[in-house]
Amino acid sequence: MHYISTRGQAPTLPFEDAMLTGLARDGGLYVPETWPRLSTADIAALAGLPYEEAAFRIMRPFIGDAFTDDAFRACLSRAYASFGHVARCPLRQMADNTFLLELFHGPTLAFKDVAMQLIGQMFEHVLARRGARVTIVGATSGDTGSAAIEAFRGLAAVDVFILFPLCRVSEVQSRQMTTPSEANVHALAIEGDFDAAQARVKDMFNDFAFRDSVALAGINSINWARVLAQVVYYFTSAVALGAPHRAVSFTVPTGNFGDIFAGYVARAMGLPIERLVIATNHNDILHRTLATGAYATEAVRPSISPSMDIQVSSNFERALFDVYDREGAAVSQLMADQKARGRFDLSQGALERLRGVFASGRASEEETAAAIARARAETGELVCPHTAVGLHVAREHAAADPATPMVVLATAHAAKFPDAVEAATGIRPALPARMADLMERPERMTEIPDDLSAIEALIRDRITTGAGA
Ligand SMILES: *Cc1c(COP(=O)(O)O)cnc(C)c1O
Repeated sequence: MHYISTRGQAPTLPFEDAMLTGLARDGGLYVPETWPRLSTADIAALAGLPYEEAAFRIMRPFIGDAFTDDAFRACLSRAYASFGHVARCPLRQMADNTFLLELFHGPTLAFKDVAMQLIGQMFEHVLARRGARVTIVGATSGDTGSAAIEAFRGLAAVDVFILFPLCRVSEVQSRQMTTPSEANVHALAIEGDFDAAQARVKDMFNDFAFRDSVALAGINSINWARVLAQVVYYFTSAVALGAPHRAVSFTVPTGNFGDIFAGYVARAMGLPIERLVIATNHNDILHRTLATGAYATEAVRPSISPSMDIQVSSNFERALFDVYDREGAAVSQLMADQKARGRFDLSQGALERLRGVFASGRASEEETAAAIARARAETGELVCPHTAVGLHVAREHAAADPATPMVVLATAHAAKFPDAVEAATGIRPALPARMADLMERPERMTEIPDDLSAIEALIRDRITTGAGA
């Protein structure tokens, strides 16, 4: 399987290089040349398998010869051993035909662990074979950074630098990034919002001299291997609810469009998904785009679901590539419009094709809080605010189609966002025992201006001196 860029100008790469690279050299994102399909029998045969075995069968066609079967199985088994639930990504029923897909049983209590733990193992395997080292740089609105740090801390062949918006992440999120003591972990608090942090990471990837000199590798949600790892739980949950003989819908709390794009991939592979519902908070660019056809960025407004406080939704480009018949030139034009004018307009054909797969909705701050309270009252469950955005949006869609099971992705543990949960329910969710001392551990971080050359200089200095701080 080879990978091509959504902008059509970067070299075609095998899986291993697409994984290590992240962003393509033409500014685009890597996607597989074709979508491999699983037959109805292949999908039916996933029923009852351990998560790791299902993951092996679903991901194998994308991976080519980068891993032997044994090596890939070993990566999967190490990746998910740290999860606090034997089913890894279990389902929980919330109403007659609404289910939560619990993706928060990994080490940092958010769904990003599902992909990141696996990527850590895959990077380690590939770099050891090549005798190479890399510098991982990522931007985070909160959960990616801690998941990356957990996945890569202490690995010999990797330095990991995480840029996060100062004061815009929750204390649990921030402490998960600043308390690991390994010298290869570098938490950088940038004076700006998430979009600024993400823009500086993109700038570093576009500075080829810098990129090559430090062997930059990307693990943000644009990394293809992350999207791929997330495809698995769409299959396992749908099969548990009756697929391939019964169609299922999903509602996905969305920021960078990575998680929901994994659902699009599952559908392209043959999983019978009726609807993929995009759920946004008041930073609702994707909801507005689907409603109007205009993708127009506005200023980011902080919310109680901070991991979705985003106005530049990077992985949306992968969906655009498909609905523009995989024409890199068309995607490049849209992205140039976006850069020049802060917006682009979808063609009518592209908009209709998106609407054939995706629906959308938004939750205000009040609606999010009300959804947290309702979940508690109706089921006894405490849900995180991102999950609550999903539950709010799912309600309308589930009511319109009561025969199709609706799976809402529960993207974080309630204890990761205790203030919002306590405000809505009066109950402060406790951290699991394994991280109960998080608030007492010593912190380590560097504050840095929103300035490319300052950030690049710091990274060069840290990797040559080997000093963590
Ligand atoms: C990252 C994140 C999201 C958004 O996921 P995307 O892949 O960026 O759409 C939603 N909820 C939580 C808790 C997250 O950490």
